[in-house]
Amino acid sequence: MAIDFLYPEYEVVRNPDRCIACRVCERQCANEVHRFDEERGRMIADESKCVNCHRCVSLCPTRALKIVKSDHTFRENANWTGQTIAEVYRQASSGGVLLSSMGNPKPYPVYWDKMLINASQVTNPSIDPLREPMETKVFLGKKPQLERDQAGNIRTDNLPPQLELEVPVMFSAMSYGSISYNAHESLARAATALGTYYNTGEGGLHEDFYPYGPHTIVQVASGRFGVYKDYLEAGAAIEIKMGQGAKPGIGGHLPGAKIVGDISKTRMIPEGTDAISPAPHHDIYSIEDLRQLVYSLKEATDYRKPVIVKIAAVHNVAAIASGVARSGADIIAIDGFRGGTGAAPTRIRDNVGIPIELALASVDERLRQEKIRDNVSIVVGGSIRSSADVVKAIALGADAVYIATSALLALGCHLCRSCQAGRCNWGIATQRPELVKRLNPDIGCQRLINLVSAWNHEIKEMMGGMGINSIEALRGNRLMLRGVGLTDRELAILGIKHAGE
Ligand code: SF4
Ligand code: SF4
Repeated sequence: MAIDFLYPEYEVVRNPDRCIACRVCERQCANEVHRFDEERGRMIADESKCVNCHRCVSLCPTRALKIVKSDHTFRENANWTGQTIAEVYRQASSGGVLLSSMGNPKPYPVYWDKMLINASQVTNPSIDPLREPMETKVFLGKKPQLERDQAGNIRTDNLPPQLELEVPVMFSAMSYGSISYNAHESLARAATALGTYYNTGEGGLHEDFYPYGPHTIVQVASGRFGVYKDYLEAGAAIEIKMGQGAKPGIGGHLPGAKIVGDISKTRMIPEGTDAISPAPHHDIYSIEDLRQLVYSLKEATDYRKPVIVKIAAVHNVAAIASGVARSGADIIAIDGFRGGTGAAPTRIRDNVGIPIELALASVDERLRQEKIRDNVSIVVGGSIRSSADVVKAIALGADAVYIATSALLALGCHLCRSCQAGRCNWGIATQRPELVKRLNPDIGCQRLINLVSAWNHEIKEMMGGMGINSIEALRGNRLMLRGVGLTDRELAILGIKHAGE
């Protein structure tokens, strides 16, 4: 219908002097944008299919291509933007929910960028990480209580289960099914080499990855896909997913078309069946119910593994976290509203939840006030983009961070935000064999190692600059942060002073 025609969002610009009609772009584009026109003897493009993933631009041997934002526009209207109008047309045409992927792209405040880090000058000298030891090792879990045995010796047999991280960065939950086998292999191998952990997400653990179990966090989500005793035994920790930052309050849905082969086997559901995760866990309607699941999982694994409870950052997150800490969980993972996802309703992704910075500060403060902060560790995620974000998160009160989008970028993701289509040209968010093989796990693993190692080096330099030589000394040290351009209320919630104070 003419009313539904929308001019393409992007234009493919092909330099005719450079294009040699090698047809690489045609072969590389799973969205079928490029085609060789036999009649005209040249390449042409169907721009309506372009998602701006840059695959063709990156692989064109003569640098003949660029993708530009279309300047076609609706009449200017600050209220009814072109995107808003286009979305109304799409819904009026389809009657369906708008779907998107990756994190919230809206211009809400990024509080990481409104906080600045301290550095020592003259007194309290800085530390040179190249010459002096700098500790980035972190233990996650309930802090041990010092107890003595009858002979007066300190007991070492009463330590709560811990996760030991060489760097304060872990790879966040991404399920096999939402991302490819090769992406999972890259994450598993990199986590092992870095001395940290990756997370299965809710899709179960492929049998090939059991050897990486000591560096794997196995997730138990509301769909309970792939959960059985060996799976729980395989991981170093178990994560109960109560919520996800990109889509708080709703469940998940992996279409039956994607439940094929090993994915069906790993999820333990028949091929072609939709994998629907309910919004709530059907056995959890209170903190007492959550406590039962926490202790069931501990019991099933002989109390040897820490249990993580992952929640989305929502309005009353501090009170929820307080309950989670009392449920017996060893670690609370909080996922902010910019967290990524393989697929989410656009309206939920863009409008539900709160920024992770405010959630973290309020949770850390509440647990301290209630004197239960040492009962749990706090891990935060939801758009941790750099080592500076990591340092700021730890100074605000986190013990460690989860990264996912940054890790996918390291693997080649170009943030085209169309993972839900399953045609990821970079071999990440796809199960199509010809696309999956584009991601070489050797290269992927090395790039993840490079990224986290570089961040770790920068973390040490920033800590050294502050005159701090361990993550433990930085944790919750909000004096190391100052705000810029924040209201008094925002500063109060973040628990930091304004720059100049
Ligand atoms: S990859 Fe580059 S040179 Fe080859 S057909 Fe496409 S635009 Fe032309
Ligand atoms: S994972 Fe692939 S489909 Fe998803 S945003 Fe990145 S490049 Fe696009």
